Amino acid sequence: MKIAIAGAGALGSRFGFALHQADNEVVLIDNWVDHINAIREHGLKMTIDNQTHNAAIPIITPQEIPSNVTVELLIVFTKAMQLDQMLQDVKPIMNDNTKVLCLLNGIGHEDIIAKHVSRKNIFIGNTMWTANLVAPGHSESFGAGSVNLQNLAPGEENMAIAIADVLTEAGLNAHFTENVHNTIYLKACVNGTMNGLCTLLDVNMADFGATKDAHDMVASIVKEFAAVAAFENVQLDVEEAIEFVEKCYDRTTIGEHFPSMHQDLIKNHRLTEIDYINGAISRKGRKYGVSTPYCDFLTQLIHAKEDIILK
Ligand code: NAD
Repeated sequence: MKIAIAGAGALGSRFGFALHQADNEVVLIDNWVDHINAIREHGLKMTIDNQTHNAAIPIITPQEIPSNVTVELLIVFTKAMQLDQMLQDVKPIMNDNTKVLCLLNGIGHEDIIAKHVSRKNIFIGNTMWTANLVAPGHSESFGAGSVNLQNLAPGEENMAIAIADVLTEAGLNAHFTENVHNTIYLKACVNGTMNGLCTLLDVNMADFGATKDAHDMVASIVKEFAAVAAFENVQLDVEEAIEFVEKCYDRTTIGEHFPSMHQDLIKNHRLTEIDYINGAISRKGRKYGVSTPYCDFLTQLIHAKEDIILK
């Protein structure tokens, strides 16, 4: 399959590498000059479970998209706040049949994608794969992951299944799901608790979980997510969602990890995706008349931290 990865950072590189190894025709699209130069010179370096591989995958900027080339599938892997601009920039690589798959963290990306792509071509979901950038041209990833995805428009189920099959053949363990918004909200509960709280408190997830008020804070935030989700016909089981979040404390699995927001802001001094996680719940809460004081405050605190760190 002809596939473009729009945003070949940490996770885009991981997916691009896997799909390339499975004999798909992959092109990476990014605008980070050092990263592009490193990949053009040495290939994409991908370390998976401590084994480093090299793959000669073409990488271009959006401005370098050839006028006569379009792809069958475009997988977006920008940060949430970069999605709108990226879709604008990569328009030339899409034709009327190009499918767009979005697995970004956060809520409501389909509204942004629908500004650029017809709904029948939009496929959304989320992923439990993780990756981080070691250096320009070099991404690393540990452990196993999965993908859940679904078509946005009715009648496109077979295409969603076909896309999941392409990912699975590349070892990415993808599943078509009937109720992807439920899965998206469930993962957003993890991001909406662990990301902001561990970033502000400067702790890993296990150490956060060991604090006295961790359970109350998580429960309060998850209840806000569930109350908003209900207005979008997504029924989140609050107890189950809390239990799902609290699995992150397990030191034998991912407890010792710092969530990506901590890496973005504290380690790499980059803006966060808070407006698309807790901030999205605040906005939707205002729209539906649901009070979301924890998400409101967490969003403000993270923005304040961004102001302090990035000033
Ligand atoms: P990243 O910052 O490493 O990669 C984003 C890439 O997009 C960058 O290389 C950037 O240069 C490029 N980009 C952005 N806008 C562009 C534009 N207009 N033109 C060209 N290039 C552009 O981010 P990531 O960690 O790979 O995360 C991507 C998404 O996946 C986020 O929503 C994140 O929350 C989600 N996610 C990440 C992980 C993970 O482990 N990294 C896990 C699950 C979900």
